[in-house]
Amino acid sequence: PRLANQIAAGEVVERPASVIKELLENSLDAGATRLDVEIENGGIKRIKVRDNGRGIGREDLPLALARHATSKIHALEDLEAVATLGFRGEALASISSVARLVMTSSREDSGKGWQVSAEGRDMQAQLVPAAHPRGTTVDVRDLFFNTPARRKFLRTEKTEFNRVDDTIKRLALSRFDVSITLRHNGKGVHNLRAGSGRVEMERRVSQICGPAFMQNALHIDVERSGLRLWGWVAEPAFSRSQADLQFFYVNGRAIRDKVVSHAVRRAFADVLYHGRHPAFVLYLELDPASVDVNVHPTKHEVRFRDSRLVHDFLFGSLHRALASVRP
Ligand code: ADP
Ligand code: MG
Repeated sequence: PRLANQIAAGEVVERPASVIKELLENSLDAGATRLDVEIENGGIKRIKVRDNGRGIGREDLPLALARHATSKIHALEDLEAVATLGFRGEALASISSVARLVMTSSREDSGKGWQVSAEGRDMQAQLVPAAHPRGTTVDVRDLFFNTPARRKFLRTEKTEFNRVDDTIKRLALSRFDVSITLRHNGKGVHNLRAGSGRVEMERRVSQICGPAFMQNALHIDVERSGLRLWGWVAEPAFSRSQADLQFFYVNGRAIRDKVVSHAVRRAFADVLYHGRHPAFVLYLELDPASVDVNVHPTKHEVRFRDSRLVHDFLFGSLHRALASVRP
């Protein structure tokens, strides 16, 4: 079973950023409103995620590390979702099979909690009492310490850090209601406070995309025939570096999509100059029934039922907004 975990791990655990993505998703699933991430050496040496979610009880803690142990399948529809999403209930098992993992959790205000640890080939998860405020901390050390072949695919500390940072930024722009901090090698990188008002959201966008973006950004909010597009766009001249400042969400989920990027690029090129990459943080909201998000669980893809409609709505809305400031 350990070998199977290591094989499965290849799908979920590619690098520190993918570990962090899985851990943060678990924290959000647990209802966390505060996420504190600490990494060392780009996450290769250490990844620690602490949340204030509902925590895991003593009996469930060892189970959480077992393969196919998910607390999230309740109904028949969920099983269908699993069929489409593929592996689920495997992230923690996979991570613990290729790293040294310690998970501490408490469900109680008293701070009484429990801790399990698992280490690569060591299948035995040890359960001991431990103090922890209500919530969960997952501490992952020495990623791929027992799979040198996989470790070889890791890039430099800087590159892995950048991917972690991208993951955090992408998440932070989809959950304004959650406080998020990131520390790297003991130094603060992000300290993002929760708040869903316009001012607070713009403060966060500015923290993530830089003040130059926010100062030059045009706020848009357009709604037509069941589709809503809102967010901020800025003239390409202000984008620090290319794809760095392109965030697009469909129903709260970060995606990359050809239909979307084509519509956005065309609108910018039409109104402004050609050849530069636009900078934007945009949210498209539409009836969930008219978009299929389960194309692939880890790639950020969607399939629109009516991609023509979506394309024309995006192009039209952005074109009008940009033209209104640049006639
Ligand atoms: P999945 O998220 O698909 O269920 P995981 O391997 O990621 O599978 O997690 C296994 C289980 O461990 C989850 O279903 C959940 O019950 C529990 N769990 C993991 N992380 C947390 C967390 N941060 N807070 C509370 N429960 C958690
Ligand atoms: Mg999970």
